[in-house]
Amino acid sequence: MAELTLDGVTKVFTEDDGNEIVAVDDVSVDIEDGEFLVLVGPSGCGKSTTLRMVAGLETVTDGEISLAGRRINESPPAERDIAMVFQSYALYPHMTVAQNMSFGLEESTELDDDEISELVDDTAAMMGIEELVDRKPADLSGGQQQRVALGRAIVRDPEAFLMDEPLSNLDAKLRATMRTELQRLQEDLGVTTIYVTHDQTEAMTMGDRIAILDDGVLQQVGTPLECYHTPNNRFVAGFIGDPSMNFFEMEVDGERLVSDRFTYPLTADQADAVGEARGVTLGIRPEDIGIDPDGNADSPHEFDMHVDVVEPRGDENTIHLTFEAGLDEPETFTATVSGLRQLQAGDSVVATFPPEAIHLFDADTEQALH
Ligand code: ATP
Repeated sequence: MAELTLDGVTKVFTEDDGNEIVAVDDVSVDIEDGEFLVLVGPSGCGKSTTLRMVAGLETVTDGEISLAGRRINESPPAERDIAMVFQSYALYPHMTVAQNMSFGLEESTELDDDEISELVDDTAAMMGIEELVDRKPADLSGGQQQRVALGRAIVRDPEAFLMDEPLSNLDAKLRATMRTELQRLQEDLGVTTIYVTHDQTEAMTMGDRIAILDDGVLQQVGTPLECYHTPNNRFVAGFIGDPSMNFFEMEVDGERLVSDRFTYPLTADQADAVGEARGVTLGIRPEDIGIDPDGNADSPHEFDMHVDVVEPRGDENTIHLTFEAGLDEPETFTATVSGLRQLQAGDSVVATFPPEAIHLFDADTEQALH
């Protein structure tokens, strides 16, 4: 078993002037044996620091990290049986691919030279770089260097992989291919993995589960679909999904939400969930908004809208809308419609916010109201 557990892990950096920065704040998460966990969040939220603590490259201020049930807080990096893959690949420029992959294996394993050479060849074949083993990193493309870096991690047969934005130096097409390949590889090898990215699409498509971090604090851990459908709070709701969820600040008036722009009747369950909250943020995803160019706004969940901008995205378009009622002070929001729909800036449409698709958050605490 190579379960990886973070229990109350905290990192405080002290700057030269004595100022303290809490980079990681009381993070607890259990990564199951063989699981692919994606740690995602905006720049500076503490992802790399978390990973570096697990790797042993950074000390832990508080809390405990354990691998396969054994505390590793104080273990030197080389003794952790964890392999890390960096964004920069971190290959040795003066060594060949084969030397990069085998470097240090003599000391850290029982294997003799022939066995190491066989292992490197097998792994190079698995990564599709068998033709490149005698080249130096400078003579490889970015994608090839990245395969070498992954191969170097795999050859060590570690208990866990840590990957820090390993695909971010690749172009979009190669990145998409490598995502799938990496996922398949991880599944075949069954090695417990933490994968760090700031890209929510990467998180949604790759992770068995995703852990969303903001300002050092873990906001939610769940499957991609759980985080998408039932975000714990406004931050997660806005971070997961592309284009982002739309938010409207509303006042509570009995069983209705009211703003300058529109009034939204709540279902009985929603009104219960809102309870005593003073203000509510109503969230709706662009893809959940129904658009009808020929309709009449004759249900209480339908609104007259004005199309401000149409942004083609290929198979679908993102349209920027404003409420007809607020045209003097336009506040746009987005809806996604099929690319086949012929909408133009200036069109009038009816938009539906289906009651089952809306999300409600307490305006003060920003927590979801279920
Ligand atoms: P990015 O996606 O930009 O790499 P990140 O989520 O990986 O960001 P970290 O690099 O972990 O974020 O940084 C978290 C916070 O800790 C930031 O505020 C950063 O400035 C701070 N920090 C990181 N390393 C140090 C350090 N050695 N000394 C002081 N502060 C640090």
